[in-house]
Amino acid sequence: MQTTILRLILGDQLNERHSWFSQVDDSVVYALMEVRSETDYVRHHVQKVVGFFQAMRLFAEQLRAQGHRVHYLTLDDPDNRQTLTDNCRMLVERYGAARFEYQEPDEYRVDEALRLLAASLPIETRCVSSEHFLSERDELKRLFSGKRTYLMERFYRAMREKWGVLMEADGRTPLTGRWNYDAENRKRLPPGLRGPAGPSFVRDVSPLVALLERAGVPTMGRIHPKHFDWPLTRAESLRLLEHFVQERLPLYGDYQDAMSQADGWLFHSRLSFSLNIKLISPLEVIQRAVAEWQAQPERIPFSALEGFVRQILGWREYVRGVYWAEMPHYRTLNFFEHTAPLPEWYWTGQTRMNCLRHAIGQSLDHAYAHHIQRLMVTGNFALLLGAHPDEVDAWYLGIYQDAIEWVELPNTRGMSQFADGGIVGTKPYVSSANYLQRMSDYCKGCPYDPKQRYGPRACPFNALYWDFYDRHADRLRNHPRIGMAYPLWDRMDGSERQRILEHAQRIKENVSRY
Ligand code: FAD
Ligand code: SF4
Repeated sequence: MQTTILRLILGDQLNERHSWFSQVDDSVVYALMEVRSETDYVRHHVQKVVGFFQAMRLFAEQLRAQGHRVHYLTLDDPDNRQTLTDNCRMLVERYGAARFEYQEPDEYRVDEALRLLAASLPIETRCVSSEHFLSERDELKRLFSGKRTYLMERFYRAMREKWGVLMEADGRTPLTGRWNYDAENRKRLPPGLRGPAGPSFVRDVSPLVALLERAGVPTMGRIHPKHFDWPLTRAESLRLLEHFVQERLPLYGDYQDAMSQADGWLFHSRLSFSLNIKLISPLEVIQRAVAEWQAQPERIPFSALEGFVRQILGWREYVRGVYWAEMPHYRTLNFFEHTAPLPEWYWTGQTRMNCLRHAIGQSLDHAYAHHIQRLMVTGNFALLLGAHPDEVDAWYLGIYQDAIEWVELPNTRGMSQFADGGIVGTKPYVSSANYLQRMSDYCKGCPYDPKQRYGPRACPFNALYWDFYDRHADRLRNHPRIGMAYPLWDRMDGSERQRILEHAQRIKENVSRY
């Protein structure tokens, strides 16, 4: 009798080029499942749950069309036990499987659960690579063995050398002689400039939305069920990549940090969801961008290309390395001992502060905000306010289409909230209204005045900024990268400082009204 192998495919493992699928094998059953344990561990954006489930369904259909055997458990399947592990146990039994196989999960929580499951099954089990990333889980830890910090720049250079990306023929010298073009990638957006219209992937997801409603899955955010516009297949993701390299890459670097009321995407790629569920691979994205630059060097500045490669070969792999090096204690870190709740308007966008209203409103509408909106608007305010990192994490993990813990947690708790005390970021990313006014047009049309520090019209970022530095002086005053903040604060006269701190206190006590 033929033995059966049960292979689990998680919702973020939709990699059709995985070696598992290189040949059709009748003895293999592929299992995909929509489960409450995944929909409910945090309150997700409705577009995120729909996006994952719809992409999984399309992937299953494609496998079937290629001749593979697939067992797909929908959320309302009567056989569905609603956790990954219980379903796997049930399917192992049902198929009389002689072997259970799964791909390395990217989340600590799922990794633990599947390791325990594998250890408890009375059959052979095997965990294989997801064949997606450009570094091993423990590569960062090995590279920095014996060091106190993990320097992203050093990791990035090691990855450039390892993969021969943007390197001279000797393999050690960066193309152009320079590794880093960050300084060139911080321009202000000229008035009226917008990103090009992107390709559309519109599909009707009403049945899935209705299913989530029937099942009572708690979600946040908004969705147009007949107009769902995320790429959900490899072909669609490649189309988005093509659009990006043709239309957006030339200005990607220049306006990487810019923010606009009229355009929430500007020249960003919007590829993170496709990458994170593995419809496309980081290497092919990088290679496609490099090939376009090689074909049209006069159209694509090297600084734009390097800025883009840095995000994927550098930051994306780096945060994954930090995650695996530091979990599970990483998710409990709270360097500043912050305890405040996040204001209720993080879930509604109903605040008078224009920058926050826009960044949150856009996130609720599209499950997307670009990096600087996440870091310098929503993250900045949460940190200045002293929000508990658990609350901040739950919000980021829920609201973004691309949010999976391995990438969300080091970005949020580390880079944005400095709750890790400097493992990811070398200093806290905080700013007053000054930065937001320089890098965005949000302050135009805001009822608050970015120049005032206190008083009814004063921008709340200003008083909170100084209050942050004042209350954390013991931790930050001697920090080598803080720069001018403390000398400026010390030079202000005492009554000015007093007014600022009193105003900050009023904001903290009444934040729901701002
Ligand atoms: P682009 O600007 O076009 O960048 C290209 C690609 O580079 C992205 O698709 C992404 O894969 C990668 N990338 C860029 N920056 C980072 C970074 N800091 N870390 C990892 N990858 C990066 N990214 C996620 O994928 N999931 C998250 O849950 C997530 N949470 C974040 C939370 C906070 C507080 C912050 C500050 C950033 C977070 N990021 C997260 C990183 C970044 O904001 C998003 O990857 C990016 O905005 C996605 O949009 P894009 O594809 O248009 O990016
Ligand atoms: Fe944001 Fe302050 Fe500018 Fe208003 S004035 S948009 S609150 S930075």
